[in-house]
Amino acid sequence: MQKGNIGVTTENIFPVIKKFLYSDHEIFLREIVSNAIDATQKLKTLQLKGDFQGEADDLTVHVTLNKKKGTITVSDRGIGMTADEIEKYINQIAFSGANDFLEKYKNDANAIIGHFGLGFYSAFMVSKKVEIITRSYKEDAKPVHWSCEGNPEFTMEECEKNERGTDIILHIDDDCKEFLEESKLSELLNKYCRFLPVAIAFGKKKEWKDGKQVETDEDNIINDTTPLWTRTPSELKDEDYQKFYRDLYPMSDEPLFWIHLNVDFPFHLTGILYFPRVKNSIDLQRNKIQLYCNQVYVTDQVEGIVPDFLTLLHGVIDSPDIPLNVSRSYLQSDANVKKISTHITKKVSDRLQAIFKENRKEFEEKWDNLKIFINYGMLTQDDFYEKAEKFALLKDTNDKYFTFEEYKTLIKDNQTDKDGNLVYIYAGNKQEQYSWIQAAEAKGYSVLLMDGQLDVAVISLLERKFDKCRFVRVDADVIDRLIVKDDADKKELDADKRFNLSHLFESQMPKQDKTEFHVETSCLGEQAAPVMITQSEYMRRMKEMAQIQAGMSFYGDMPDMYTVVVNADHRLVKEVLDAEEKECSERLKALLDENDSLRTRQEELNKAHEGKKDEEIPVPEKEEKKTIEDRMDAIRHEREDILSGFASKSDTLHQLIDLALLQNGMLKGEALARFVQRSFEFIK
Ligand code: ADP
Repeated sequence: MQKGNIGVTTENIFPVIKKFLYSDHEIFLREIVSNAIDATQKLKTLQLKGDFQGEADDLTVHVTLNKKKGTITVSDRGIGMTADEIEKYINQIAFSGANDFLEKYKNDANAIIGHFGLGFYSAFMVSKKVEIITRSYKEDAKPVHWSCEGNPEFTMEECEKNERGTDIILHIDDDCKEFLEESKLSELLNKYCRFLPVAIAFGKKKEWKDGKQVETDEDNIINDTTPLWTRTPSELKDEDYQKFYRDLYPMSDEPLFWIHLNVDFPFHLTGILYFPRVKNSIDLQRNKIQLYCNQVYVTDQVEGIVPDFLTLLHGVIDSPDIPLNVSRSYLQSDANVKKISTHITKKVSDRLQAIFKENRKEFEEKWDNLKIFINYGMLTQDDFYEKAEKFALLKDTNDKYFTFEEYKTLIKDNQTDKDGNLVYIYAGNKQEQYSWIQAAEAKGYSVLLMDGQLDVAVISLLERKFDKCRFVRVDADVIDRLIVKDDADKKELDADKRFNLSHLFESQMPKQDKTEFHVETSCLGEQAAPVMITQSEYMRRMKEMAQIQAGMSFYGDMPDMYTVVVNADHRLVKEVLDAEEKECSERLKALLDENDSLRTRQEELNKAHEGKKDEEIPVPEKEEKKTIEDRMDAIRHEREDILSGFASKSDTLHQLIDLALLQNGMLKGEALARFVQRSFEFIK
């Protein structure tokens, strides 16, 4: 029997393995099983080349659990090892500067394992003792038994083993007992070994017999050795892709599309990406893409490896060229990884473009689901935007779809304002903005539906990308002013009437916290609504942005400011004005006359004082001016009192205000109840 010390330059590697690799303990299984697969594939290669002529019928790798003994055994029928090979590959883990490296990457087991070729030694993360029983394929090789108890000493001796291949026996540590649970082991095999290229058996298949699960004689193969992405796309049917998707994501709905990636040059990459169907209340989850290296599961944390927006997709990517075993920050700056990322983006956009071209109808049907991915891509990646602008769609409120170019052509003639800006009118909610949409359509305008999660951001993006354009929400102003086409003066009410009308409405607007109403009168024609409540595009957007962006809370704290536009042309508004005149004009006239004479006197005095210094003006005249000002103020208040006195009693006026509030979803609680009550009374 040979005894020796494992050739590591650092004192003792075992505590390091245990301590530093704590969080990723479970990958020991991947490492040990991958080694078994490698040994098996090497044997196949030797066989192909004619260097091995022995029996190689059943190459299944067996994973066996022995709960009593507390062991997990991984057995293969691969090339095995001679004593010399064990000495070379297992005993000599020579490396330098280990401590520095371990310190730096202590949280990244993958990096350490990859860097040192510590694959086999990861077994010591969970084992108090590891044995190797192996017999090389080489004809006169003697079987060897190697054993080590988690310290730098090992033993190695000749042993009995009839069959070629290797058994790795892990004596699981007391504090890692969970790995001795069949269900746990099964879960890990499914996670790490599911698509390995050589059959792996874990126990026997079970079947139900007399209400119990009993073992059959058949091996329970846990992996699919030729997963879909390794196969030729032309041989695959839609059903195959759908089935594979269901296997990977049993809880998800059918995918929208898939893309089979198959690249040989300048790097190797295969994979299948799926666009998942997302329900409205977006349950988008990142990290659903799984990354493989030659069918060995590596991670589902693909950020930095695939473009950001693709992390929303599902599927698998397999590449031996991604340096998988190094740390994440290194990965993100790796040139190969960048190339791969660019390539995937291009593939995805090409495929979308092709689907759009070949089957626009299907593309449109799927757009509502697809939109979130494409929008996200456009927002986060410029090179994707450049491709996507040819197939990204805009949807109008009648569910018609347009490309950017088509839509521009559609609205160019009717929706260009006097400054040559193309005005894109949109609704954020078809139900809530129904009457505004109707009014816009009556004017021959087209209204886009922008109700997606990302649409606030998309609107800003498009405003930057499109030449001379502006987006306005359909309720941002009364329809005639959404697109200002000429400066021609509109007819207006005279100043006194404007004052009266404004005050009638202003005095009766509800007093709400953090809400301000500013009343404007306008002559909008008999057909337009009598009262409309609008919110300026700018203010609304700032408030929307404040909700999603930190550092803009200033806007978020501002009150909501609304403009109440009263249409002086409307029959009902005229009625209110007429009634007001009947009741108030006498009193108002007296006040106005007084006001006029005060103003005349004020102007006289002003004229007389022109160019004079303050001390040159006689005191009585100064006092008179002050009295005039005070009286004029008082008159204004009296006018307002008369008007609000009238307004408070006008059911029509209240009804008009409430209807406008109702149309904006702003009539609630007691006010709503009062409105309903009043409405009953209106029904004769
Ligand atoms: P790596 O696999 O990265 O080379 P490992 O520490 O996992 O590093 O393994 C070291 C070497 O030990 C392997 O390269 C291989 O030569 C040998 N080896 C490990 N497991 C087996 C096995 N089951 N059969 C044959 N050789 C093996």
